[in-house]
Amino acid sequence: MAAKIIDGKKVAASIRLECKARVASLRERTGVVPGLAVILVGDNPASALYVGNKVKACAEAGIRSFRRQFPADIDADTLIATIESLNHDPTVHGILVQLPLPEHIDMRRVLKTIDVAKDVDGFHLYNVGGLVVGDTIFPPCTPYGVVRLLEYENIPVEGRNVVVVGASNIVGKPMALMLMQREATVSICHAKTRDLAQFTILADILVVAAGKPNLILPQMVRSGAVVIDVGINRLPDGRIVGDVDFEGVRQKAAYITPVPGGVGPMTVTMLLFNTITSAERTAGIASRAVVKEEVLLEPEG
Ligand code: NAP
Repeated sequence: MAAKIIDGKKVAASIRLECKARVASLRERTGVVPGLAVILVGDNPASALYVGNKVKACAEAGIRSFRRQFPADIDADTLIATIESLNHDPTVHGILVQLPLPEHIDMRRVLKTIDVAKDVDGFHLYNVGGLVVGDTIFPPCTPYGVVRLLEYENIPVEGRNVVVVGASNIVGKPMALMLMQREATVSICHAKTRDLAQFTILADILVVAAGKPNLILPQMVRSGAVVIDVGINRLPDGRIVGDVDFEGVRQKAAYITPVPGGVGPMTVTMLLFNTITSAERTAGIASRAVVKEEVLLEPEG
């Protein structure tokens, strides 16, 4: 039997409705309007498109957005100064730097400048550490979106074999950590993995985020597996596809996400979600004390 197709657009739309209601309620109760600052460096068309989508999604949810655009040759210090000023701006609850940055800018330094309490993308070192120890401050948006899709479909994670293909800092690694936190047995594969299929065939839940079209073929997937395709690839003929042979694998899997229309719509949605959570924390509504870095770094004894 063909797999059930997980409709990311539908799930995202229902979470966005929930977001809109949270924004309205926060505003009514406290006068606080969630604000997201989006920083774009350079003129990469894909990045400009993603930023445009984020700004539009904010407007639809009632979130105020602040777009800061810089030329590709901006110096790192100017960028850092902008982030520092946004850190101190009480109308800004989330700060996002659209990646990738030009090569001359040290991405780690930039990401570390973002106030942990406003790091709604979840890429600050402190946030990553929180994920590792199971004390998440802001879950990174794409893996968070995947978790919400699994929850929506009532797909159990505990005790299942999960294989994550792709080990990047923004998708693969946090994805693996989030599913491990939910008691799955997780393997992570990457470009140097020998014989990828020997791992993927064991997966009850297979999450693929490699950026390689047709990487996952039907013979690499267990019958009845859940297949989540995070990949976004533009083919020479202009079509957008994922990393999974969708038509082949859907004949074998129990669930599968399409590309487009699967994980993609969830990423922006979870960004809105995190931004609202941040504003609610500022207003004292959402519980989640953010421990400051200085505390963590205090010498023992
Ligand atoms: P990335 O930084 O390029 O990382 C790709 C990962 O895949 C790396 O860990 C790489 O291994 C691994 N890999 C590459 N070729 C492989 C192969 N043949 N077999 C096994 N592993 C392989 O990419 P990313 O930022 O994580 O994004 C991955 C994909 O997801 C891209 O298509 C991207 O467009 C898409 N994406 C989608 C969303 C969304 O909202 N749906 C969000 C973010 C990203 P090494 O570490 O060994 O190099």
